[in-house]
Amino acid sequence: GDASLDIDLLVIGAGPGGYVAAIRAAQLGQKVIIADKAKWGGVCLNVGCIPSKALINAAHHYEAMQHAETYGLKAEKVGVDFGKVQEYKTSVVNKMTGGVEMLLKANKVQMFAGEVMFINENEARLFNDQEAPRYRFKNCIIATGSRPIELKPFPYGGRILSSTEALSLPDVPKSLVVIGGGYIGIELGQMYSKFGTKVTILEGLDTIMAGFDKDMSQLVAKKLKKANVDIVTGAKASSAEQTDKDVTVTYEVGGETKTVTADYLLVTVGRRPNTDGELGLDMLGIKMTDRGLIEVDDQCRTSIPHIFAIGDIVPGPALAHKASYEAKVAAEAIAGLPSKVDYKCIPAVAFSDPECASVGYTEKEAKERGMNVKSSKFPFGGNGRAVTLGGADGFMKIIHEVDTGLVVGAQIAGVEASNMIAEMGLAIEMGATIEDIALTIHAHPTLGEITMDTAELAMGHPIHTL
Ligand code: FAD
Repeated sequence: GDASLDIDLLVIGAGPGGYVAAIRAAQLGQKVIIADKAKWGGVCLNVGCIPSKALINAAHHYEAMQHAETYGLKAEKVGVDFGKVQEYKTSVVNKMTGGVEMLLKANKVQMFAGEVMFINENEARLFNDQEAPRYRFKNCIIATGSRPIELKPFPYGGRILSSTEALSLPDVPKSLVVIGGGYIGIELGQMYSKFGTKVTILEGLDTIMAGFDKDMSQLVAKKLKKANVDIVTGAKASSAEQTDKDVTVTYEVGGETKTVTADYLLVTVGRRPNTDGELGLDMLGIKMTDRGLIEVDDQCRTSIPHIFAIGDIVPGPALAHKASYEAKVAAEAIAGLPSKVDYKCIPAVAFSDPECASVGYTEKEAKERGMNVKSSKFPFGGNGRAVTLGGADGFMKIIHEVDTGLVVGAQIAGVEASNMIAEMGLAIEMGATIEDIALTIHAHPTLGEITMDTAELAMGHPIHTL
């Protein structure tokens, strides 16, 4: 047998959970090793948030160029060289993953490019093609993330894509069917639609982007329909038939059986936590929920007290910033600090067009909790900056508690909603009232004024709407 090397903290997985945990723990004086069997930055930087946003940005500019006349501009011979678009995407990804690697090194985190398997609850084997060292750790943070759910009738391969392959197509497909109208399916489907792909979205529920307030998803649906995207809600896809050049999907809707044929089928029906397989969590007997997520306490501690778990493998929304937040709490808990998670305020953003962003409660959620709330809705059309950006279609809603004035939630659908939601997260975190927001001077002309205007509307004295 080989002897174990000693380490304070072993971090498994280098996504936005793992790499942040490793850096924070190193800052707090821990001797840390981080291992990843794929690439630094995890799903988020390599096949998730970052490459999708790069492609969405390129698609947005392409669309804007096609409508150059809106601004009195002439853009002639506008076209797409998708190979070059992919090069741009890859350069963005490389810049960001290179940054993570640099930060880990600068914080003196040891890095191991390879897989991890637990030997027992105090030791693990790290291995790749060249070496297989064994480590004895004082603490461990598991941050192994998730992978696309694969449905039996739609096995990935050939013409059937997961989000990962959909981010790396060499050409713009002529047509694409998307099963699953959640935010990932909508982001990718809408992106390809802007590049000229004929897109059909099959959604089982009665709405796309069901995670968001209905007014928001309706706005996105309207924009998609205007762009000639077919949205079929209440659709149950049952099978797919591939040839070497296309794929035909059979689905049922309203009691009828229908088919649709396209170059590719993209399946985005959710993500499965990486808690199975070689890692050996079963052998350790770590407590899991029935959905295969790891049970943790408010410091992200598993049922084995010196083993922590964060990110997509624990309950809660599968979002990068939630993983990073838990990462800091876990690292600080390990260093003996009294940090605890507080999930009151996790923003959720869809980079659809228009963008949708939400934090805290929707009106419906607040009322379901028996809260006495008021919802105030202000249109982007009443904001100068939004109109100069060609973004008059959109709205902001602020939900506040009538008795206390406390802001308990906000939803924004419109241009730059993703950036605007941060102010509302801070408002909720700081216990701001609706009056605090109304009394805050926001620069003109900016989208931030929408926030102020919505608050003034809530106070009953709106200037820029009736
Ligand atoms: P991951 O990022 O999944 O990283 C886990 C890492 O662990 C991987 O690199 C994996 O190789 C490694 N690993 C697994 N098992 C082992 C093992 N046994 N040994 C060694 N290494 C191992 N979220 C947002 O907040 N905003 C967005 O805009 C957004 N867009 C997305 C778009 C797409 C197309 C997808 C797929 C996801 C998107 N997400 C987005 C979700 C986001 O990517 C995840 O929530 C986030 O990456 C989770 O972070 P994590 O650290 O838990 O795990």
